[in-house]
Amino acid sequence: MREPISVIGAGPAGLTAAIVLARHGYRVRVYEKEPDVGHRLHGDFQGLENWSSEQDVVALLKDCGIETNFLCVPYSGGTVYAPALPPLQVQSSRPIFYLVQRGALRGTLDVGLKEQALSTGVEILFNNRPDRFSGHTIFATGPRGVHVLAVGITFLTAKENSAVALFDDHLAPKGYAYLLVHEGRGTLATVLFRDYAKGDECLERVTKFLEGIAGIDIRDPKRFCSFGNFFLSPTRKHHHVLYAGESAGFQDFLWGFGMRYAIRSGYLAAKSFIENTDYDALWKGELKQLLETALVNRYLFERIGHTGYRFLARKFARGNPCGFLRRQYGYSFAKQLLLPIARMRFKENIASPDLLHRNCLCEQCRGIGGDRVPVQGNRIKMPGQ
Ligand SMILES: Cc1cc2nc3c(=O)[nH]c(=O)nc-3n(C[C@H](O)[C@H](O)[C@H](O)COP(=O)(O)OP(=O)(O)OC[C@H]3O[C@@H](n4cnc5c(N)ncnc54)[C@H](O)[C@@H]3O)c2cc1C
Repeated sequence: MREPISVIGAGPAGLTAAIVLARHGYRVRVYEKEPDVGHRLHGDFQGLENWSSEQDVVALLKDCGIETNFLCVPYSGGTVYAPALPPLQVQSSRPIFYLVQRGALRGTLDVGLKEQALSTGVEILFNNRPDRFSGHTIFATGPRGVHVLAVGITFLTAKENSAVALFDDHLAPKGYAYLLVHEGRGTLATVLFRDYAKGDECLERVTKFLEGIAGIDIRDPKRFCSFGNFFLSPTRKHHHVLYAGESAGFQDFLWGFGMRYAIRSGYLAAKSFIENTDYDALWKGELKQLLETALVNRYLFERIGHTGYRFLARKFARGNPCGFLRRQYGYSFAKQLLLPIARMRFKENIASPDLLHRNCLCEQCRGIGGDRVPVQGNRIKMPGQ
């Protein structure tokens, strides 16, 4: 048995790290502040994106040592709406995303990962929020602040399985809205990158739009609201602590597809302990270019307006949406040139080296921080504030 490792946070990042470490003979103890996994989420459907690499995301999960013992359904098509355009049908030769469910229910990604962790001998301490830790630790506590807000409902419906994306600043300022239906259950949400106070207003508009135009019936709706954050940082480690998932700012800056980053960064954090390799070198080798390109993509997306949304919708509907999206996330000289401008625009999302220490409770940091400090203060606003 190798040296014990603590993991703080039982989300996809923390549990992936724990599973990989336990399979390699480490004694792993996971601390989770809630009574079970998935408490931050609400039984809502999310999409595991399948475009940012050539490799299928389910194969990537397998490479990380993760089995799909949870609902994981390929979706290869759907409908896109953009202002003043008729609905456009999108069809792909490979799945565009895999639908998964999140939360504490049976069949969710969170519960599936918990079961895999327990069966590999990981110890999970629920209702446990450590106020200090020492030794080798992976910190994976989810978002630290609000850079993107999702307001939505889960509901029952008679509608057939379907996926809908809507680009319209009236429905989701500088973001998008979506509808996912699987086997009589639906999730509908608006994802806002600004004007958070308009969350409920936008949700109402999206609901009316989909009931009217897409003819969807909504029964027993349950509202949810949650958030995410992203930031670039020159390092994601500090003394014996490695940071993974959204707590390390790993997130898709363009649209918030963070699950893949969470799982991959958890895997890389574990790998760094197992192989005694530098974590920063590992994530930089795999994720840095993607993160930087996504920052530039967000910069461009915020500028394109409704004309740009129409252009995007037509591009998705024409031919090969995964290929088109992969090119947008791939290396581009033009995007490298735009990176300094995007970094200036999002300077509050560029972490200073001490950011990771601020809510750190490791022995070296106690006294500097203590409580959770938001990534940046002045732009964080929750609905209704
Ligand atoms: C509404 C919504 C829709 C989304 N849709 C998508 C999507 O379609 N596709 C996609 O890829 N991503 C999506 N995301 C993003 C995705 O859910 C996250 O990026 C992902 O869950 C991050 O995983 P994580 O492990 O880093 O953090 P989390 O999933 O937040 O897990 C962190 C865990 O740490 C625990 N914790 C926090 N603080 C402490 C502490 N001090 N001590 C102990 N435990 C602690 C929390 O309780 C939690 O269980 C969505 C997010 C939201 C909110």
